[in-house]
Amino acid sequence: MKFDPASKIQDTWVFGEFGDVNPSITDSSTYTFLSPDTMEELFEHEKEGCFLYSRHFNPINKFLCDALSAMEGTESAHVTASGMGAITSCILQLCGAGEHIVSGWTIYGGTFAFLRNFAPRLGIKVSFVDITNMETVKSAMTEKTKVIYCESISNPLMTVPDFRVLADIAAKNGAVLVVDNTFSPMILSPHQYGADIVVYSMTKFINGSSDCVAGAICSTKERILSLMDVNSGACMLLGPVLDSLRAASILKNLHTLHIRMKQHSANALHLAKTLRDRGITVFYPGLPEHPQHQLMKKMMNEQFGFGGMLAFDVGSAKRANRLMVMMQEAKVGYLAVSLGYFKTLFSAPAHSTSSEIPEEVQKQMGLSDGLVRLSVGLDNDIERIAERINGCLDRLDA
Ligand SMILES: *Cc1c(COP(=O)(O)O)cnc(C)c1O
Repeated sequence: MKFDPASKIQDTWVFGEFGDVNPSITDSSTYTFLSPDTMEELFEHEKEGCFLYSRHFNPINKFLCDALSAMEGTESAHVTASGMGAITSCILQLCGAGEHIVSGWTIYGGTFAFLRNFAPRLGIKVSFVDITNMETVKSAMTEKTKVIYCESISNPLMTVPDFRVLADIAAKNGAVLVVDNTFSPMILSPHQYGADIVVYSMTKFINGSSDCVAGAICSTKERILSLMDVNSGACMLLGPVLDSLRAASILKNLHTLHIRMKQHSANALHLAKTLRDRGITVFYPGLPEHPQHQLMKKMMNEQFGFGGMLAFDVGSAKRANRLMVMMQEAKVGYLAVSLGYFKTLFSAPAHSTSSEIPEEVQKQMGLSDGLVRLSVGLDNDIERIAERINGCLDRLDA
């Protein structure tokens, strides 16, 4: 089976109101009806081509949803005001008091904090496991488990789980597999390997210009309609609506995502090799020594590479901090959280993006103090950047 997310997006086709090549931006919170009967109908169920109120749905958000569901190969999609808005809405739609979630340890700090600190307040129990160890996952499942939650390439150690096996375990237990694919849009298509729901922080690679915050949920039509339901849908009732002006700009950026992912990946592979060849421990799924390199090769849509994210260990927090300051001064990139920007961004996860994870847990999952995470940019000449990083490393101990 060959799945090509880039061609799927290319084939989404929308004319603007005046034949514009970009769909017209709808700048309205509410929509008129020609008859009250239609309004009543719309409150009861979705009506194709009809819009009610922008928190529910609006035309430009729908065009972005159509392109995202094409990319993911799902029936439907919904966009949200942030990645966390997408993730929390999904989880709260699927789980209630007394129910249970099995989640990977190595997930985004915000998601971890939600599952560990917030979900228990609502009576939702969460077991954190090594999501690449299927025996551990199986033994964590209970009768009450409603969700298996993981990231496709996980933050920050770049581990990759086997979606097919996780989807089977979920299905056998009447649970749902939710995969956060933020690190690897186009590269991995988890729904093609059985994931029931794919969520995104579009803030990162999908938008690609670090100028806004947004999220997405891709799934079956039935699940998306339940999230949008005016009486019981988390996306409707919790209100994480994406602004239509932002949806329009994200949709335009989505059309160059395939080119960007290829360049991010090629650059990251080059830097991963450069660092490894210095004898540094590097976490990058594109390196043959990475524990899930073969698995990733089997699952990935090949032409887009292994992604733009890598982490490497310089031994201590002090060295990591010193190196990052040096790299910023040498114009390798910015010392900043977030990722998927056209310039390189770096941070030390132990004390920033993963700081929500308690220290003893960080140790257990192999997250070292000296870890530096790079979101590699779109540099045309990456060798130049490799030389700058090498220069910083040479000077680090001098
Ligand atoms: C950033 C991020 C999120 C949260 O998304 P926001 O858009 O910041 O709300 C979730 N998952 C991953 C993997 C992320 O990198």
